[in-house]
Amino acid sequence: MKHIAPLAHLIEHFRALPGIGAKTATRLAYHVLDMDAGDARALAEAIIEAKEKIGLCNTCFNLSDRNPCMICASDKRDRSIICVVEQPQDVAAMERTRDYAGLYHVLHGALSPLDGIGPNNLRIKELLMRINGGGVGEVIMATNPNVEGEATAMYIAKLIKPLGVKVTRIAHGLPVGGDLEYADEVTLAKAMENRVEL
Ligand SMILES: [Zn+2]
Repeated sequence: MKHIAPLAHLIEHFRALPGIGAKTATRLAYHVLDMDAGDARALAEAIIEAKEKIGLCNTCFNLSDRNPCMICASDKRDRSIICVVEQPQDVAAMERTRDYAGLYHVLHGALSPLDGIGPNNLRIKELLMRINGGGVGEVIMATNPNVEGEATAMYIAKLIKPLGVKVTRIAHGLPVGGDLEYADEVTLAKAMENRVEL
């Protein structure tokens, strides 16, 4: 079926989103056309606002609308513990457990030689700089429980241990091969509680 140009254009943009197939993209585009003008404008503006106002914290590299982010700036957090995760979504998952009061460091990925992702593509250098800055007693490797996540945890642990800092790995209560992001709060809190030293 051939759509009129502006509708085809909108469908094309929805299709480019993760997890959206042709059918869903078409349904969403028709839904937007059904919305009243104010709601459609608010949706478009929310996308623009999020893109313009959200950047990365210069310390932990989590998404933030300020620098340093609220977690890095908080005086209620334990500054001696850094929890290392792959993605900003993982910080959100950890925060939902309300169990962890330390700081974070977001790598923005995991080591994956097959995909051409090496140490220089991740925020590893920045993590080592934070640790060298002093005051850190423990680094918790909370990368995903899959091949890439494990390899990344081991690689970073090897770099940190000579600095005299304790390195731990979250426990294997998490489904292997799964994403931290989708773990339920209880499982994640337990995995943190039962972490083991590397
Ligand atoms: Zn931060």
